Amino acid sequence: MSIWLPPILDVDYDVVMIENYLDINFSRPRVARYLMTIVVLSVLSQHPSLLLGQTRELGHDVNKLNIRHHTAHYELAGTVSQEKLLEYGRCLEFIHAAYEKGFGDLLDQPSTDAQRRSSKKGVPPQEVDTHDTSLFRVVILGSQQDYSEFTRAYFGQFAEHTAGMFVPSVELLLILDDGHAEQTYQVLFHEAFHQFVHRYLPAAPVWLNEGLATHFGTASATGKGLVFDRQNTSYFNIVSNVAQAKKLISLDKLVLMNRAEFYCQQRLPGLPYSQRTLAYAQAYSLTAYLVNVPRERDLLQKYIRAIALTTSPREVVQSTKTLLSKRVLDRIAPHWLAYVQQGH
Ligand SMILES: [Zn+2]
Repeated sequence: MSIWLPPILDVDYDVVMIENYLDINFSRPRVARYLMTIVVLSVLSQHPSLLLGQTRELGHDVNKLNIRHHTAHYELAGTVSQEKLLEYGRCLEFIHAAYEKGFGDLLDQPSTDAQRRSSKKGVPPQEVDTHDTSLFRVVILGSQQDYSEFTRAYFGQFAEHTAGMFVPSVELLLILDDGHAEQTYQVLFHEAFHQFVHRYLPAAPVWLNEGLATHFGTASATGKGLVFDRQNTSYFNIVSNVAQAKKLISLDKLVLMNRAEFYCQQRLPGLPYSQRTLAYAQAYSLTAYLVNVPRERDLLQKYIRAIALTTSPREVVQSTKTLLSKRVLDRIAPHWLAYVQQGH
């Protein structure tokens, strides 16, 4: 029997849009804040109780972060109850299994950056038991006040109006549990995917990273595991509307978009959407199509395997042009559109 089950709500809350704003800002951190964040959070991860006791900016409640829990792949801390933290750990293991499924045998690749990094760290064996550097770190803040204090102390104003974020520089996931379970789990599964990808696909193209993160964000936890029963129909509607106006981003352009292009907030001429919203809608629906249609899934996995072996964006572009060529995408486009139009 699970401690907590997310209810099925019909809320169209665009956490992704808020998160984009953060992604953009964190890609250009001010040097001082950036360095401070690395130092503070690195120490925090090693000696949480010691450091938190000394960090007065975080306020008195932050000592509750000593509530901790380990699972096979995650190290969790937070200001929620131990019971809730166990439930978050359980659901994170469910979603990790779903991430792994798509990545096949990729996780055993010895050449991934993460493994190179952790082997360089030379952690003495006696410390491995208390702090496993291979675990993904997650902090769950149990109230808006805790979350605001924590994020404001480390990230200034960037985190206002957010419900969670992945901080690439320190590979840390921060999640607000404000009692809106459906939204919290959507943010958790979305952001945890960015954390996962950062380790295994360090040069992942934006469309794939956001498309898959949005896809995993549609999962619901049940007593037995995850179900993907909440397709993002608002994104499907956007794609359908823009297709009617014949103003879709061509797929060969979408898969090569850089961050500036993908996250561009400029309103598209003659449409009620920004380029970013359309890019999200197309990336998510294309990913959902590739994941859910068996004959296309092999192509997606082949592509993921090809780009997992590199940290070079240039090599990713080359793999994209080879495996997702204009010819391939021209074949996919009508099937993808039909899938989207049936889905909403
Ligand atoms: Zn995202």
